[in-house]
Amino acid sequence: MSDPPAKDDAIETQVLDGLALAKSIRGEMAEEIRKLVAEGHRPPCLAVVLVGDDPGSKSYIKGKQRACAAIGMDSVEHLLSETTTQVELLALVGRLNEDDAVDGILVQLPVPKHISPAAVAECIDPAKDADALHPLTSGRLLAGTATLVSCTPLGIMEVLDRHDIPIEGANAVVIGRSNIVGKPISLLLQQRNATVTMCHSRTRGLANVCRQADILVVAAGRPGMVRGDWIKPGAAVIDVGVTEVDGKLVGDVDFEGVKGIARLITPSRRGIGPMTITMLLRNTLCAYRIRKGV
Ligand code: NAP
Repeated sequence: MSDPPAKDDAIETQVLDGLALAKSIRGEMAEEIRKLVAEGHRPPCLAVVLVGDDPGSKSYIKGKQRACAAIGMDSVEHLLSETTTQVELLALVGRLNEDDAVDGILVQLPVPKHISPAAVAECIDPAKDADALHPLTSGRLLAGTATLVSCTPLGIMEVLDRHDIPIEGANAVVIGRSNIVGKPISLLLQQRNATVTMCHSRTRGLANVCRQADILVVAAGRPGMVRGDWIKPGAAVIDVGVTEVDGKLVGDVDFEGVKGIARLITPSRRGIGPMTITMLLRNTLCAYRIRKGV
């Protein structure tokens, strides 16, 4: 086992301001939409569907609506009762698929237990799949032909690029293999010529695998599991994890332990979260442009 990196020759660690970066990207999109409208096109529109009245989900969708409004994108909200059947929900999604005024469709997860998330994902028109959940969307990512991509991984790539983190030839380690984060970010990094190692709960010697990483993406939902002595000096560390501990949101990486070792770290608050919503808007704008040919 190699020695843990010393903090003596401390590296200046850049801490991502995800809110500021998201704001700047949203500004770019607002300008794009302003130009489209000035040319006589209607603004893009995101339809958001929520089943049930989970307060967390309600606040998420309010945030998404505010983000749409701030960049001149329209949004429509469909709030359905907890007792809505799967047939009723799929019928609504079918109507949104047919509605030419709707460019992106998001069904807020989790849905109640009597509804299959897979059935919902398969019902969304892949051309309007703003949250990138349809199997065809995932298949296109695998084939390298994706236009819409899962929002969190897309946000991570944007963070790496906008901080000039070299990806080609880099050793990238991804902890977590979910369909919404771990698998798609591994593919995106591999498509940009990183050498990617995917880790999960059965990975042996995880700390040593992480020590090889120039880019470390952690999406495990295990608060503070990645410690400073797992980090290669100068690495870019992307902490996706968000877990509520004693009323506070905590990431998967021991933030203070990594400071002075990593070149870049994303905090659990104002980190990847604002980028995820921003990429939902980008997917909607992208879906609009493709459907409208503008
Ligand atoms: P998930 O479905 O919760 O699965 C967790 C993954 O982590 C699994 O692949 C699991 O391995 C792996 N894992 C769990 N414990 C581990 C350990 N001790 N060592 C190594 N791997 C371990 O994943 P997710 O939906 O991607 O969510 C992960 C975290 O990211 C959560 O905290 C979630 O809240 C957060 N998240 C944040 C955003 C955002 O916008 N900020 C977006 C999405 C998710 P197995 O496959 O072997 O079980």
